[in-house]
Amino acid sequence: MTNCISRKVILVPGCLLCPIYQVGYNESKLNWRKEILDYLCMSGVSLVQMPCPEVMFKTYDVGLSRKPHGVRYYEKLPGFKDHCKVLAHGVAKQIEALQRNGYVIEAILGIENSPTCAVNKIFTYGIGTEKRSGLFISELNNYLMESGFVIPIIGITRQKKNQKKEIAQIMELIEGL
Ligand code: SF4
Repeated sequence: MTNCISRKVILVPGCLLCPIYQVGYNESKLNWRKEILDYLCMSGVSLVQMPCPEVMFKTYDVGLSRKPHGVRYYEKLPGFKDHCKVLAHGVAKQIEALQRNGYVIEAILGIENSPTCAVNKIFTYGIGTEKRSGLFISELNNYLMESGFVIPIIGITRQKKNQKKEIAQIMELIEGL
């Protein structure tokens, strides 16, 4: 049985569904996801997991054991920008196919402050907060603009105190509230 909700899709960052992708994963890194995941699962919308560019760079072993690094590091890391470009292209193609087949992409979620998946801001030690996207989201945004897709990209934070606003934004898109 289909209804209008079941044709709705949200693309989510790799670590929302798979928290072990976060750098230096430990139990405390589970907590931030709960409210957003609860809401998304209850909403009935389909979730498409985007790749985690950091964990997929070079080998999976290297990615899983990587150390925390800022955006300057990733910008200079040979091959990383191209890697993000290739992954972003793959996601853009998925979006195209979903839309061709009658599915509605309601939103893409990124993770604020991530050098790779941030949407609006990245915190860097010694520099502070910069208003910019991460390397993967920025490439994805370029592909979407080139293809003429207008899809909201919402940055979610890993701090529960900010999430009410972010959930309200997602809710507005899914349910028109
Ligand atoms: S924010 Fe992006 S790069 Fe970082 S762990 Fe999550 S999916 Fe991977």
